[in-house]
Amino acid sequence: MSAPSRPESVSERLADLPAVRKSLIDAAFAARARVRGVPAREYGVEDSAMTHSWLFTGPPGSGRSNAAVALAAALVCTDPEEPGCGRCEDCRAVFNDSHTDVVHIVPQELTISVKSMEQLIRDAASMPTVSPWRVVVLEDADRLSDGAANSLLKTVEEPPPHTIIVLCAPSTDPEDFSVTLRSRCRHVYVKTPSRDEITRILVEEENASETDAQLAASASLRHIGRARKLVNSREAQKRRTEILNLAELVFHGDQAFQAVSKFVDPVKKQAKEALSEINDTELKKLEASLGAGGKGKGTQKLARGLKGQVKDLEKQQKLRETRQVRDILDLSLLDFSSLYRDALMLSVGADVELTHPDYRGLAADLAEKIPEAGLVQCLDAIAHCREQLGQNVPPKVAFDGMVGRIRKAAKAS
Ligand SMILES: [Zn+2]
Repeated sequence: MSAPSRPESVSERLADLPAVRKSLIDAAFAARARVRGVPAREYGVEDSAMTHSWLFTGPPGSGRSNAAVALAAALVCTDPEEPGCGRCEDCRAVFNDSHTDVVHIVPQELTISVKSMEQLIRDAASMPTVSPWRVVVLEDADRLSDGAANSLLKTVEEPPPHTIIVLCAPSTDPEDFSVTLRSRCRHVYVKTPSRDEITRILVEEENASETDAQLAASASLRHIGRARKLVNSREAQKRRTEILNLAELVFHGDQAFQAVSKFVDPVKKQAKEALSEINDTELKKLEASLGAGGKGKGTQKLARGLKGQVKDLEKQQKLRETRQVRDILDLSLLDFSSLYRDALMLSVGADVELTHPDYRGLAADLAEKIPEAGLVQCLDAIAHCREQLGQNVPPKVAFDGMVGRIRKAAKAS
């Protein structure tokens, strides 16, 4: 639950990122000047502060998508003094993800196909209706297939005059993001907030206690979205406890493998349940749009068309479920890995803050039982499991393999 004190305006939302805030607000002022056909210096900014294609990068949890949405709000805001005021109807609609001229795409598929980009390109091409600008925000643009990146290139290179494209990706590393697309965009780096900043946000916005907030800030590896979950969601807390305890169970024969099943199966079930409502709604919408159940001429043809489209939709939904399961498991593996890293830090006597300070005892225990080289092998085993999940190896198989490797490294078998 959110406290009423949740910051609303763009300036407040980006309080911890002054450089990002300045670029966005300056861009919004320059955009206003263009709309009015006056020099940007009337607003005290350079005309070049505004550009049509943007790329926001930052590690997961850095708030890169928040920053991208903040830019959208600043552009369509109608407050005469403060672009992105947070109070006007347009700002509120953007922050509620319901503004007609702001298209915010969160890809559900692991790889964004050329076909998915066609809709985005159409969205980008259409005229804004209530605002001077049409803003298209595409998250996880690192998932664009080469073909999809190419198909997007022309739109990014020469966007329609009323359109602003905002792409989000983890980094500009060529592994993460198309070099050609990168060269056509203005790049804004959104840094990860500090532990203290996250603690403050959790206390102020989530009503967390100082102690819980500090623990969540550190256990989430300073991932803001994740930290919020850790203070609010029992499920997330339970998963964290279970995965960390796995490190202890590794020393107890079959118990570790049983624990893996008990851990993986509920994640799949939860993902299915969490998505079932949206899946149903999507299906009903699709059926309605195709006039399912109608009578008369053409109905048969429609029915055939419907079958194909339903199949496509189900495929998309399956992909979304796979992605959700993978994302949850990957975060748990990150927790798990941090515990072995904590153990390694203790083992070499490094003076660093632990990621899981509440599991210091277990980390110290691991450091005592497993030699340094073995701890490194444990970390490798976890990294390997994460890679396998990325390659669609069934989670149970990947996890069992990891436990086997860790047992070997820990000389527990
Ligand atoms: Zn506003």
